[in-house]
Amino acid sequence: MVERKIAWELLNRDDIEKFVKGYINFIGSAKTEREVIEFLISEAKTYGFVDIDNVEKLKPGDKVYKVFKNKTAIFAVVGSEKINKGLRLIAAHADAPRLDPKIVPLTEDKDSQIALLNMGFYGGIIPYQWVNIPLELRGIVATKEGIKKIKIKNLIITDLLPHLSRKKFEERKASDTVKGEELKVLLANIPSKEKEKKSWKKTVLDILFKEYGIKEEDFISADIEIVPALDPIEVGVDKSMIAAYGQDDRVCVYTAFKALLDNRDEKNTKVLWIVDKEEIGSETNTSAQSEFFKYFVAKLLEKKEAYTELNLRETLINTRAISADVGSVVNPNFKGVIYDLNNAARLGSGLILEKYLNAAGKGGENEAHAEFVAWIRKILDESNVPWQPALLVSKAERIGGGGTISRYMARMGMDVIDMGVGLLGMHSPFEIASKADIYSAYIGYRVFYEAKT
Ligand code: MN
Ligand code: MN
Repeated sequence: MVERKIAWELLNRDDIEKFVKGYINFIGSAKTEREVIEFLISEAKTYGFVDIDNVEKLKPGDKVYKVFKNKTAIFAVVGSEKINKGLRLIAAHADAPRLDPKIVPLTEDKDSQIALLNMGFYGGIIPYQWVNIPLELRGIVATKEGIKKIKIKNLIITDLLPHLSRKKFEERKASDTVKGEELKVLLANIPSKEKEKKSWKKTVLDILFKEYGIKEEDFISADIEIVPALDPIEVGVDKSMIAAYGQDDRVCVYTAFKALLDNRDEKNTKVLWIVDKEEIGSETNTSAQSEFFKYFVAKLLEKKEAYTELNLRETLINTRAISADVGSVVNPNFKGVIYDLNNAARLGSGLILEKYLNAAGKGGENEAHAEFVAWIRKILDESNVPWQPALLVSKAERIGGGGTISRYMARMGMDVIDMGVGLLGMHSPFEIASKADIYSAYIGYRVFYEAKT
């Protein structure tokens, strides 16, 4: 019989709270992929990790990393076993859905007397969720003179008042309640004078130049993001949940990272791969489809044993891997979208283990082999890790299916399974996770890194 576990009953509350404290600090401060990588590298250094290029010869126990383009990184703890016997790999993504300014984003609306920032999307967002909440702009602007870090707090996108909304509601589909092109960020209301004409945009440009040395054309070469300016909160009278922006997939990034730092295994070569661009299809040279991972494994081989094409291929094909990404859980307000509760995950029942993702014909996705799933079940159960089997089961099945990076990992030959934390309100500005599930992920990932067979 498949009995649903209650993670809260299997874990110690003090252990959970101690762990989650560090997580809240991370998730509240690292809000872009660059900031996630920066946070991880600086923490890894305090644990003795060094850039792999600064190591001549690798020996068991060595801790190394490599960063690429400041948006993706790989961390490894070298084991005693030969590399081509396979790695223990966990991969998670550092990017999160958000609003990205367009490349020529500054405008002004003379009728409303306001300067605005024109937005596009990054990943699957629901536009109406991004109005009337505090936002901030973070990122870098690469000018011809150099890189300028930029952080502007206290921004907002305004919504229409109910008194004037009736016609809009009658005419529009729910998905168009707020349209993408209506997501314009308020920037300034004080006009400056330019050749006898009032200009609100000029006010913005003057401030940007004075404070950051940025000119209008510099937005063409910028990596800037509009993210929620919401600090994480503990949710519920029992403080059992955490609401925060970007938990997809930074909750898996953090738990896997801590599992790597705290592991006590000496045999396996354990690797954590933080990827970028998952939310937009894993293209770009920092994504899970890039060559960066193989490049890093080649370096591991060269510096520990010997790099040959065959050694590299053997390493990949013998690797056991987890695609650590978040899953969906039963939402009490919208139970109607799920037709099969037996196969749906619950908040507070531990790590979600997904043999495959999509209930509808398994199309286009990875499927873990039965033998590998059995091994995962065995190691989790032996260490009493709370976990639950689930699929993404919705009535609109194909719409419900979200992809992860497991298929790109599987292509390299490795055994890989999707395993991660369940979220309510995924992709919203304030995603919700259970503290017990977060801690379950940490111990589950740690068990995977440490398992002997
Ligand atoms: Mn994800
Ligand atoms: Mn996502």
